[in-house]
Amino acid sequence: MEKFDLVIVGSGPAGLGAAFAYSKRRPEGSILLIEKERYSTGGLRNDCKMNFTYPIGFPEEYWDEGSANRYLSEVIEELQPRFMEKRNLSIYEKRAEKLGVKLLVVRQSHLGTDGGLELIKELMDRLKKRGVEIHLEETAREVHPEDRILLTDRGRYRYQDLVIAPGRRGFAFMQELMRKLKIPFIDHILDIGIRLETTIEQYPIVKDYYDPKFLFPDRVRTFCTNAFRAYVVQEKYLTGSGEPYYSVNGHAYSAKRQENGLVNFALLKTVMFTEPLASGQKYAEMIGLQAMLLGGGRPIMQRVGDFRLGKRSTEGNFTGDLYFFEPTLHCTPGDISLSIPAKILRGIWKAMKLLDTIVPGVLHPSTIMYYPEIKLYGNKPTFIDRHFQALPHLYLIGDGAGTSRGITAAWASGIRAVEGILTEGKGG
Ligand SMILES: Cc1cc2nc3c(=O)[nH]c(=O)nc-3n(C[C@H](O)[C@H](O)[C@H](O)COP(=O)(O)OP(=O)(O)OC[C@H]3O[C@@H](n4cnc5c(N)ncnc54)[C@H](O)[C@@H]3O)c2cc1C
Repeated sequence: MEKFDLVIVGSGPAGLGAAFAYSKRRPEGSILLIEKERYSTGGLRNDCKMNFTYPIGFPEEYWDEGSANRYLSEVIEELQPRFMEKRNLSIYEKRAEKLGVKLLVVRQSHLGTDGGLELIKELMDRLKKRGVEIHLEETAREVHPEDRILLTDRGRYRYQDLVIAPGRRGFAFMQELMRKLKIPFIDHILDIGIRLETTIEQYPIVKDYYDPKFLFPDRVRTFCTNAFRAYVVQEKYLTGSGEPYYSVNGHAYSAKRQENGLVNFALLKTVMFTEPLASGQKYAEMIGLQAMLLGGGRPIMQRVGDFRLGKRSTEGNFTGDLYFFEPTLHCTPGDISLSIPAKILRGIWKAMKLLDTIVPGVLHPSTIMYYPEIKLYGNKPTFIDRHFQALPHLYLIGDGAGTSRGITAAWASGIRAVEGILTEGKGG
């Protein structure tokens, strides 16, 4: 059986962060990186917009500004981002402040989906040059911590230390693993909301600030704006019993592609269960399945004009004079208010009205609301140290373990785990 100093499951930014940090600090160490897809997935592959300002992407229960900034400087060193300029911010900030809304000003870079693919290729090449062994299309299945063995669909490996970073899609894998290994966890937080799609003319702020982060009352926020060459997409998820449901998402291409003049972004409300402590995963599945029921197996789309009039959208509402742009994700026209829980809808509708006062135009009748957009990152394992060690020599990191909510924080989680492995002497 092959043995490695470090085995990493998942080649998203968390796994890559760990691979880069370990190979930099210990070039003689042996590293195996296992990825179940042909390429890395997640944020690096989709849009690749990176945020370099705390607390964007950093769950505050694990990070403070000082530590996040220290890790971010190493992320910048490896990724060499080109930061985007921002303009005219004071206008939006002033309007927002008057309404009790906060506009966070964040350092951002944007590569686009095509640029992200190039970056992944470059990062993989750099890792190979550093001697990291990379196994694509191999899926991790089980961990035997007492013998320090990882089983995959293609083999078994002995490890000195193991970093598991399977991302949001690996949420269920991570939960199953934690149950088997008796690692206590809760997953009581999730984000639910809609994605809006409109024209650049109706949301021109993106010309000044590509991905503006507005924080509204009732824990509602704007999230993941994509502009100029932007598309809404659907992502498939499976419930614990194998039933499919979709969450919408968005991405954009780099400036190399032709503009389609559209912008999309999510408005998400954070839901936190307290007493009784419910599972965010189960709640997400219920929400997803209910939307599938009403959307005939697809997400639902509705024009703001119809929503305001309290009527469903039909195919006819997606063509014609008033509705002058086509949806980039042609899903099921319908009535999202039949599916979305009242409290979530109230918070989001209020945020939409506030946003329309700050950036007039976004509530144009043609604007499309897509539902559901669900973000699961509430897996909170019980860690035995601040480096995300869950059992001796086993580290759980990234969006699947709730230590991040974005590319840069995921990468930072990888560095932090490696610091734990190497500097605190637990790797020996
Ligand atoms: C469509 C989309 C767009 C996004 N856009 C952005 C963005 O622009 N900016 C941003 O900051 N964030 C974005 N995000 C969020 C971002 O993807 C995540 O925060 C980040 O990728 C998390 O990193 P991760 O390494 O934890 O997980 P991931 O990037 O999801 O990587 C996990 C990897 O593990 C692999 N894996 C899972 N299970 C196994 C297994 N059992 N065996 C082997 N491999 C496995 C997966 O295939 C995957 O490649 C986006 C997410 C999506 C889905």
